[in-house]
Amino acid sequence: MSNTHPQPSILIIYTGGTIGMIEDPETGALLNFDFEHFRHYVPELKRFDYRIESYTFSPPIDSSDMEPKHWVKIAQVISDNYNLYDGFVVLHGTDTMAYTASALSFMLENLGKPVIITGAQLPIGKLRTDGKENLLTSIEIAAARNAEGLPMVPEVCIFFENRLMRGNRTTKINAEGFNAFRSFNFPSLADAGIRIKYDTKLIRRPVAGAPLRVHHLLDTSIFILTLFPGIQREYVDAVMQMPNLRALVIKTYGSGNAPQKPWLFEKLRQLDQRGVIIVNITQCSQGSVEMRRYATGLQLLQAGVVNGYDGTLEGTVTKLMYLLGQNLTKAEILQQLNTNIAGEITLSDENSIPN
Ligand code: ASP
Repeated sequence: MSNTHPQPSILIIYTGGTIGMIEDPETGALLNFDFEHFRHYVPELKRFDYRIESYTFSPPIDSSDMEPKHWVKIAQVISDNYNLYDGFVVLHGTDTMAYTASALSFMLENLGKPVIITGAQLPIGKLRTDGKENLLTSIEIAAARNAEGLPMVPEVCIFFENRLMRGNRTTKINAEGFNAFRSFNFPSLADAGIRIKYDTKLIRRPVAGAPLRVHHLLDTSIFILTLFPGIQREYVDAVMQMPNLRALVIKTYGSGNAPQKPWLFEKLRQLDQRGVIIVNITQCSQGSVEMRRYATGLQLLQAGVVNGYDGTLEGTVTKLMYLLGQNLTKAEILQQLNTNIAGEITLSDENSIPN
């Protein structure tokens, strides 16, 4: 959809996070400030020949306080302004940025415009801030068009420290360094050096003519169980007895393996029979679950556990929230878990589980 403005138009949605904070002179703690300060700290914004407007969360929040209701709000702002802007830049704290990016990738079906999420490790008012670079390049990417005049990256992405990554493939890996995000199982969509080099064959494009469809219903009746040597039956029992549990994500070892404890497989089988969806993802940062590779994985498969492939924790949890929020049967949810909806998993025939 085109807008009526000849110059590129970008809406910056400022949700909060370090990028927009300043130090309280008395306590030294970081506090949020108004978006208008950005224009003061980033005078370069004026040099863009773009129409740049902003929407600020009131109050801006540290991303540790992000909740699904905030994702709904971001999605709503994008949808309300969809026809008015060429692209969207979401400024967000880094702590839960990968969750927000993943959730939005499922919530914004048929997205045809860029939604570039970025933030910073140092506030924009600091001399050595990484925020300026991240913000300016994100704006440029959000406004970029290809030779046919179509948006270059009509996807939900995270741009951080010179790399544009698919949002639902991204994880925060560093609490201090500027290079804070990685996409271990999928290559970057673009690298920003002297020029921004896009890997166009990797970029997803919506079905032509399909209108944006926003999904607002998310169900958080999910728990994450991380396996570790010595894990105790009583604790696992307590998790599995939670009455409203609808999905369990198990973080297993290596290619999707669990200890050979009969009580564990029995519990999982009971959960599966109760209708709970159990998804297996690996504790490794890189690589995919392949439950048929070892006996220790095969038993999980036989207990009803489904393959999370090479999905990130953030992508898997938010995909489940989205699927549980739709009015789907368990069989339909399992089918969707074995489907690559928004580029979040790599399917291989060897991995796929017949439903
Ligand atoms: N705690 C901050 C947040 O996630 C950290 C950051 O922005 O980098 O909002």
